[in-house]
Amino acid sequence: RSWNFNPGPAALPLEVLEQAKEAFVEYGDQGLSLLEMSHRSKTVERIVEETERLLLELIDLPSGYRVLFMGGGASAQFALVSMNFLRAGTIARYLVSGSFAEKAYREALTVGQAEVLASGKAEGWKRLPDVRQLKVRTDTAYVHMTTNNTIEGSQFRDFPDTGTVPLIGDMTSDILSRRLDWTKFALIYAAAQKNLGPAGVTAVIVKEELLRAGSADIPAIFQYRTYADNHSLYNTPPVHAIYMMKLMLEWAARQGGIPELEKRNERKIGLLYEAIDAGDGFYRGIVEKPYRSTMNATWRMADEELEKRFALESEREGFIGLAGHRSVGGLRASAYNAVPEEACKALAEFMNDFRRRRG
Ligand code: PLP
Repeated sequence: RSWNFNPGPAALPLEVLEQAKEAFVEYGDQGLSLLEMSHRSKTVERIVEETERLLLELIDLPSGYRVLFMGGGASAQFALVSMNFLRAGTIARYLVSGSFAEKAYREALTVGQAEVLASGKAEGWKRLPDVRQLKVRTDTAYVHMTTNNTIEGSQFRDFPDTGTVPLIGDMTSDILSRRLDWTKFALIYAAAQKNLGPAGVTAVIVKEELLRAGSADIPAIFQYRTYADNHSLYNTPPVHAIYMMKLMLEWAARQGGIPELEKRNERKIGLLYEAIDAGDGFYRGIVEKPYRSTMNATWRMADEELEKRFALESEREGFIGLAGHRSVGGLRASAYNAVPEEACKALAEFMNDFRRRRG
């Protein structure tokens, strides 16, 4: 198999793909594929319940949180959080730390009043605001942050203390990658296509209290409450995507859960940053060191010509997905949970070799 460093949809473990292949044609003993089963069947109900339970177990959240499975990707959540929780007379406040965070903020502006609490845009997204001393006014509907900035390659290590104001986190590109104090968040969302499986479903983990405070004046299909009250089976859910998430969560548990995945991720990305930092600026990390992501390493080279050559040669050597996002340029290696350590070792070796040849 190729070494898959795609930013998303991301690499999946081979054993998960093999398991999925078996269940694809025949699932259980009814002579049906899972793809053909009613979402009202006991089998599908059980898959949904199991997946909810597995996710809460892995992140070890105390009771009082619900798991929902929703469609529309993380982009739908940008709109839904404001539609549900941004009331007249309150202001949604956003940490704008990258382009997805900015998109989320712009969606809130279409719904009500929203403000930027801090932004890294003027500095080219090279560093993150210090959120430890953040003061949040009492007229704040919620604070929204993107814990890992997939495109730019930065990641928050600290989370603000927002008191009674709900903190909402887009964890699409770093959920299950590291230990953290989940209880700081009232709502977390993550589209599946990085650490939770293939694209097609978004996991939402939400505090009961916030769930009940959501607007009841918007269409039912857009209310978080609807999903909670119907165990994500209000309408036809993406059953197969949820099943794939279940397999990914079981795989993550088999690896030793988040503590083990975190250790591996630090070693993996450490290999890549070492290669970036070796040798007189041949590779130049885009993000300042304290803010570097453990999921997405981004770097530039002397000129676009050299970057193109790197992308071309690396692909020829079996490394997939290293071109940087079109808005940032340069190169990016996304080393999500399912990317094996050998892949990062091989890439670091390739980078060192390329530098020796072209430097
Ligand atoms: N937020 C973050 C942090 C992401 O990485 C992505 C996708 O890469 C998105 C939002 C958008 O997700 P989707 O394409 O599922 O709408």
